[in-house]
Amino acid sequence: MGLWGGELMKKIVEEKRPPKDLMRSVRTVCAAVDSYRDQLIDILRALIRFPSVNPVFSDSVGSAEQECQNFIADFLRNLNWNVELWEPDPKDLNRKYLGMPGYVPGRTFEGRPNLLAKAPVKGAGRSILLAGHVDVVGANDSGWTCPPFEARVQDGRVYGRGAVDMKGGLAAMLGAIGALRWAEIAPPGEIWFASVVDEEAGGMGTLALADKIKGEGIKIDGAIVGEPTNLTVAPLSRGILWGELLVKGRSGHIEVEHPHWNEGGAVDAIEKALRLIAELEYLNKEWARSPRKKHRLLPRPCRIEVAKIEGGHSPTSFADACKVILNIQYLPSERDRTGGGGNVRHEIEDYVNKVAQMDPWLQKHPPEIKWLLDADSYEINPDHPLVVTCIDALQAISLDPVVRGVETHVDAGCLKNVAGVPVVILGPGEMRLAHQINESLSISDYLNCVKAYATIILFWLSEYTQK
Ligand SMILES: [Zn+2]
Repeated sequence: MGLWGGELMKKIVEEKRPPKDLMRSVRTVCAAVDSYRDQLIDILRALIRFPSVNPVFSDSVGSAEQECQNFIADFLRNLNWNVELWEPDPKDLNRKYLGMPGYVPGRTFEGRPNLLAKAPVKGAGRSILLAGHVDVVGANDSGWTCPPFEARVQDGRVYGRGAVDMKGGLAAMLGAIGALRWAEIAPPGEIWFASVVDEEAGGMGTLALADKIKGEGIKIDGAIVGEPTNLTVAPLSRGILWGELLVKGRSGHIEVEHPHWNEGGAVDAIEKALRLIAELEYLNKEWARSPRKKHRLLPRPCRIEVAKIEGGHSPTSFADACKVILNIQYLPSERDRTGGGGNVRHEIEDYVNKVAQMDPWLQKHPPEIKWLLDADSYEINPDHPLVVTCIDALQAISLDPVVRGVETHVDAGCLKNVAGVPVVILGPGEMRLAHQINESLSISDYLNCVKAYATIILFWLSEYTQK
């Protein structure tokens, strides 16, 4: 089990068996998954075929987020679920959450509904929410060997934009709901399902969902967010900051000698930006050794990455400005009072200011940082009953459970911080394949995930855990 399994798992897993009747239900639902294999693959392919590209990534007018939500609504209504579709109200969210993680100024939701649905049967047990996002990143990059929204099946995999991030997780959730019905099993508690828009560009759809759960006093005891974890059980995700570092220079002919800048000479903004980037890399080395930047459930310490550089205006001039887009990771232990990355933002600002002090030009013309996004982090204790339930469920269907954190941001923070819902992130497919050309999901992993979700629902709602 490697770095993050071992002792942790030993601590959590004890030698107990689930009750016989519960295991009978698990076997029945897993048999249903096997016999409805083709229908389950069809659900996944149908979701991928909707080009529900987040408008932030799409030049084309009209993303298919709404059509995708309508498909899900029809699927659930056919199972007699109570389905609500609503467009988040940016003004209302502005009033309540401005400056907090998940709130993105200027975002709009016309024709972009969220969906929240409730199962028709309600038992006396716990409640669970299965949640994910319908939006995907764009697919205009070259190199796709099959059209990104065709959902082609080849060599035991389904190909297409969103196959792992995260039509796979959503389809597996719908599949688990379907399989329980086809197996005629009514779990003894309340099942909720939510699919949101706008995860790929800040997470305001989930903020609206969390706000609704809170506002309407809906009691949800635990949630699974189906982002791709390759079926590892993740009680943790990192926070992510996007920052724009603007470095100023002074343009001038690039092929001639210039006097000192004090005497009007040119200053190369690209050279100054490279210096700052080198210093940020030095800070990465410092972070790599700092316990503050490490977590036992994550393989790597937090890092500052340069995602994009823009500078210069002509082959014959020194650049008068250079813009560096940074992607900065942080941990839940570094959260500020709003739950966001304010502490880390200040750390970066202080560091850049200190570096600037060592350079006379930068001292006089300090670099500016504009923060573009703060996507919050998430954590619950690995021995939380929801985590233990997921581990038990995977074991019950003979999958080897592994607990580890997710290295990226996932929409789990505001469910916990705003609505008080504990979350485990668990879904099919590998995160490294997300946002790539030829994104694909293994069909056997997908079907295993359907079984895992159905078993988690059964175990959680019947309040069975090995504790
Ligand atoms: Zn995702």
